[in-house]
This record gives sequence, C-alpha cells and structure tokens, in this order.
Amino acid sequence: MPAMQRRKQPRQARQESTEELRQEFLAAVSKLWPVAGGSLSLRKSSCIRERCTACESGMGHPRYGLWGRSGTERFSLYIAEELVPELEQALLNGQALQQLVREMGVRYTQARRSERSEQQSKRQSSSRRKKS
Ligand SMILES: [Zn+2]
Repeated sequence: MPAMQRRKQPRQARQESTEELRQEFLAAVSKLWPVAGGSLSLRKSSCIRERCTACESGMGHPRYGLWGRSGTERFSLYIAEELVPELEQALLNGQALQQLVREMGVRYTQARRSERSEQQSKRQSSSRRKKS
C-alpha cells in the first residue's frame, strides 16, 4: 500500500531508547524556527482619514494579520506584506512542531513500555538465576 510508505520508522525494528528519541526530537525542533501559531489572513480594515475613498467605497484597506489565541487571550497583529512569506513558514513550522510532539508522545510511550518489559524480564531471569 503506498500510504504505508510514509511511516518512517519500521514498527518491528529494534526499540529505540528514550535518549535516542530525545536527541531526535531536539535535532528536529532546532530546524523548526521561526515558529508561530494562529492564522494568517487578509482582512479589511478602515482608516481614520476623513472622506477616504477606499473606505467609503467599502473596499477598505486590506491588511494581513496574525490572529489567534495564546492561552485564554486572543491576539491580533498586523503583518507587513513583506513579512507574510516568513510568517507563513513560521505557521507551517508550528504545525510541524505539534505533529512532532504527538508523534514523539507515541514513540516515547512505546519506548518506555518496552524498557519496562525488558526490566521485568531481567528481574525475572536474575531471580531465577541464583548466585552461589
Ligand atoms: Zn481608508
């Protein structure tokens, strides 16, 4: 199945250690900069000028803004047009970071699970093997 090829790590391979995971995570995070969350969109805004033809015609002044929520607080920031490509990349990085965190959570859990079962089997075999 072609969809399965997108999985990077083969499930049956040697179980990775949590330290290996940590290194992989830090290396991946270091490449995800700049980072941003929220949404970037073009919005109409009005100005303070009197008798502005753009505002009177209903066109307004389209400006890019970054909108979102940080904790419970909402934020909205106007973005200069030349910063838009950078912010778009930052948003993509932000999404990639969230994806990375979810993936790492799954792999971390798998790694810890197999560490525990290894320890348990070691404990069992060492208690069976009595020292003379
Ligand atoms: Zn105006």
